Amino acid sequence: MSAVIIDNVPKKSAEEKIRLPGLSRAQIKQHLSDIGIEPKKLNMRTSQLFQWIYNFGVTDFEDMTNVAKPLRTILAEHFTLARPEIVEKQVSVDGTRKYLTRMAPGIEVESVFIPDVSRTGALCVSSQVGCTLTCKFCHTGTQKLVRNLTAQEIVLQIMMARDDLGEWPTTQENRKLSNIVFMGMGEPLYNTDNVAEAIDTMADDTGMAIGRRRVTVSTSGVVPEIVPLGSRTNAMLAISLHAANDELREKIMPINRKYPLSELMDACRNYPGLSNARRITFEYVMLKGVNDSPKHARELIKLLRGVPAKVNLIPFNPWPGSDYECSDWETIEHFGDMINKAGYAAPIRTPRGRDILAACGQLKSESEKMRASELRKMEKQRLAQE
Ligand code: SAH
Ligand code: SF4
Repeated sequence: MSAVIIDNVPKKSAEEKIRLPGLSRAQIKQHLSDIGIEPKKLNMRTSQLFQWIYNFGVTDFEDMTNVAKPLRTILAEHFTLARPEIVEKQVSVDGTRKYLTRMAPGIEVESVFIPDVSRTGALCVSSQVGCTLTCKFCHTGTQKLVRNLTAQEIVLQIMMARDDLGEWPTTQENRKLSNIVFMGMGEPLYNTDNVAEAIDTMADDTGMAIGRRRVTVSTSGVVPEIVPLGSRTNAMLAISLHAANDELREKIMPINRKYPLSELMDACRNYPGLSNARRITFEYVMLKGVNDSPKHARELIKLLRGVPAKVNLIPFNPWPGSDYECSDWETIEHFGDMINKAGYAAPIRTPRGRDILAACGQLKSESEKMRASELRKMEKQRLAQE
């Protein structure tokens, strides 16, 4: 590289420096080109940086030992490897960790790490701040959409969880953060481009190497985006179904008016790569007296006929001001048995991180801060139900 060309580029103040972590390979390459890295060395330099950032997770250019000292200095003058600020980190009694990150002024994002009983674990990432859809049972749905997250902000959620778990470099064995689920705040398929770009970055073998089959995108049913998502990302698909007839689904999920069940199921049948080895997960939140009767189970079985599917039964997680109650345990078990007998796996998802409002549907940033006594009251109600 030529130091002369680089010297012509004005140096940046700390605030102006471009943050590299979270960017795609193409973006990193462009930024290196902008500071004057010679074209013939661009690909090599991009690969070096990509590996340091995503395989080793370095936060200091000085750690890039195969980059010559003068270039390390130049890189540090233009770029930063710093992460955004973690505003709050909470750890649940069950080991679930919730992070609240300030990606930019006013852009606060929640991510939740859920360790599994085995060594693995999933990070639940957000794709938007808030949500435009107002599913009646969901806390995020009460928070107006602030904006879509960029691909960089999605990838940063993973990097920061890895920082916290001490899981760099990528080659480390027995990584706990093994899977990614787009089940945090927002509707990923209203932000498909950024979600797809983020998946490309996290899946890159020379970086974080999170296999595409370990990535699950959950959607409330944005029908026109479902097949394109599969073709572009090869990710696993989860559908937030919650009701198997249009009338009930419309009531609890307004998006069903736009995209009714027949269209949703057609899109699922056409999901690229769908097979018995790559089933679609249908999420079904158990709402007492709303969608949990044997009649509802029969409707669900009928709807899923012919689709390689599994069903995840999610006990409803309460939040401040929610109108629903969770179905009784026996009701959930009976519902699950019926689905099982029809040939579909139907595990009941153990609620995780409820004590820190980190469970499904409880996320809402800048949320009205709940008093500990209110949390305890809700937890007591839940225990009484079980
Ligand atoms: N917007 C996407 C991604 C969010 S995933 C989607 O809706 O699929 C969050 C999952 O938790 C969804 O399946 C959602 O329906 C479910 N959920 C929402 N509120 C819930 C609650 N209070 N209790 C349990 N699950 C809930
Ligand atoms: Fe939005 Fe999903 Fe919550 Fe519905 S369930 S309001 S789509 S985040």
